[in-house]
Amino acid sequence: MAWDFETDPEYQEVLDWADEFVREKVEPLDLVWPHRQFVPLEGRRRDAVDPLKDEVRRKGLWATHLGPDLGGQGYGQLKLALLNEILGRSQWAPIVFGCQAPDTGNAEIIAHYGTDEQKERYLRPLLDGELFSSYSMTEPHAGADPTLFTTRAVRDGDDWVINGWKFFSSNAATASFLIVMVVTDPDVSAYQGMSMFLVPTDTPGVEIVRNIGLHGERDNEGSHALIHYDNVRVPHDALLGGEGQAFVIAQTRLGGGRIHHAMRTIGLARKALDMMCERALSRQTQGSRLSDKQFVQGYIADSYAQLLQFRLMVLYTAWEIDKYNDYKKVRKDIAAVKVVMPTVLHDIAWRAMQVHGALGVTNEMPFLGMVTGAAVMGLADGPTEVHKTTVAKQVLRDYRPTEDTWPTEWIPRKREAARAKLAAYLENEVGNL
Ligand SMILES: Cc1cc2nc3c(=O)[nH]c(=O)nc-3n(C[C@H](O)[C@H](O)[C@H](O)COP(=O)(O)OP(=O)(O)OC[C@H]3O[C@@H](n4cnc5c(N)ncnc54)[C@H](O)[C@@H]3O)c2cc1C
Repeated sequence: MAWDFETDPEYQEVLDWADEFVREKVEPLDLVWPHRQFVPLEGRRRDAVDPLKDEVRRKGLWATHLGPDLGGQGYGQLKLALLNEILGRSQWAPIVFGCQAPDTGNAEIIAHYGTDEQKERYLRPLLDGELFSSYSMTEPHAGADPTLFTTRAVRDGDDWVINGWKFFSSNAATASFLIVMVVTDPDVSAYQGMSMFLVPTDTPGVEIVRNIGLHGERDNEGSHALIHYDNVRVPHDALLGGEGQAFVIAQTRLGGGRIHHAMRTIGLARKALDMMCERALSRQTQGSRLSDKQFVQGYIADSYAQLLQFRLMVLYTAWEIDKYNDYKKVRKDIAAVKVVMPTVLHDIAWRAMQVHGALGVTNEMPFLGMVTGAAVMGLADGPTEVHKTTVAKQVLRDYRPTEDTWPTEWIPRKREAARAKLAAYLENEVGNL
């Protein structure tokens, strides 16, 4: 009997340390340098952050998503999930622990598909936390359907020349390099005709036209770039993986990325639930505390149950990834996690905001940021609808149509069969079964 819902005590101690460390030493960074976590460290920020990273390294918690050969601990996804739900409380925590998106996913594909030279040039400094990367796939006219991408790379002698537009390339403004998905052979299906390139951001022709912000961020202070690739010339060895391999690589990348977001979302949703409970116990109205009102109790109970369901689902999926060591085999459950994630965060954050009254909707509390975050989760790494389609297709694979007009579970026929099976016992029965 191998089912076990307990964390081994040794690792629990590590998690307890991480929890206190994040609350005491990392969350202050969120308040002092909000949204600056992807700006390369310098000056006072470096003086403040480097010792924290060193502490994490000494504890053996740096870049735990990677195997020992790549400088991580090789903890696997389940242990990572338990750690990530702590890190999810804070914007800066993933940076301090060396496991921030999108760099984790980018590191993973370079580790999988990169040549030794590419690993030395891009992966090593990425793992050391000394540079950032950007994943440049979505185009202004096409996101959810990559077969519509038109950005092209054409061979010219030993080089490739890239032309086209990309949209929502997160962190491109501060990234040292971009992983760009382009059409290399328009004459075959998109699944065979697209490739990935590693392009240093300072390559001539890489033009960041705008840095788009999410709601509430100021113009051109956002972190999602519209990029014009204008005759960007890269050598042949900038190709990541083989020619035509972009779809396979993208699936490897997005599988890991999606489940890591979900792990951190548990932490963020729990933070909202904690705030809701504290407020409910602290605020009095019409003769009793908010926690005594049945509506508010309903908010708390629903939120607790939603979070528990989601957490178990994420931990189970993480366990499956460790077991099969193959994202493809766990595709259905990763997609299902991705589908429920925005709703869980939205619902819990929204209720917590409501319980805080007017204060809840101000910029003195974090709830509207969480609600925006939930909306973002319904789009980033693919829209919810597309993931629902994936879940449904995968679920349907385990079923076959009935040959008959009547469903397999049609009671009259089943009853007839049951009566035939139990005929010996029914001989003396009176009336209908
Ligand atoms: C915060 C954030 C960060 C991002 N970071 C990156 C990044 O770093 N790199 C990158 O390349 N991209 C990034 N993206 C882009 C993201 O991957 C796309 O937004 C996403 O794939 C959807 O594409 P789209 O926005 O073009 O929407 P569209 O493809 O235009 O879809 C719009 C809507 O149409 C509906 N829809 C689409 N397809 C279907 C379908 N098959 N069935 C039913 N309904 C459908 C859905 O409601 C969907 O939301 C980011 C997005 C956000 C919000």
